[in-house]
Amino acid sequence: MAASARDCIFCKIVRREVPASIVRDDSSTLAFMDFRPMNPGHVLVIPKAHAAYVEDLPPEAVGPILEAAREISRAMRMSGIRCEAVTFYLANGTEAGQEVFHVHLHLIPRWRGDAFGLRVRADYGRIADRTELDGFAVKIRAALGRSPD
Ligand SMILES: [Zn+2]
Repeated sequence: MAASARDCIFCKIVRREVPASIVRDDSSTLAFMDFRPMNPGHVLVIPKAHAAYVEDLPPEAVGPILEAAREISRAMRMSGIRCEAVTFYLANGTEAGQEVFHVHLHLIPRWRGDAFGLRVRADYGRIADRTELDGFAVKIRAALGRSPD
C-alpha cells in the first residue's frame, strides 16, 4: 500500500516531524539509522522526494542515492562499528520484502559468521541454459523501450 508523502514515515523523517538518528544529509538524500536493525549499525539511505518504487523516481534522484551509499559504506567500515563488509539491499515491491513505500536502500554491516543471509530457492545453483537466458533478455530488452502502462 503506497502512502502519500503527508503520511509517509520517511517523509516525516525528512521534515523532522519524527526523530531519527541522522548519518548524512544532502540536498537530495537523507541517511539515518534503521530503528529495527538487521545487524547493529544498519543504515537506510532515502531520496528526499517521495517515491514508492525505484521506477517512480525522477532520473536525477537515482544516482545520488548510490553516491551517498558509497560514502557511508566506506565510513561504516572505518567507524569502529563491527563491519567487515556491507550488504546493499533494496526491496522494490511487497513481494521483494518492501514494508515502507518510500524508496530506501539498506546498508547492512556484515562480518564473517554473522548468520545474516538471503534465503534462496531450493534449486539455486542450477546453471540456466543459454536459451532460457536469451529468452529473458529478449523480454526485458523489449520492455526497456516501452513506457509504463
Ligand atoms: Zn515518503
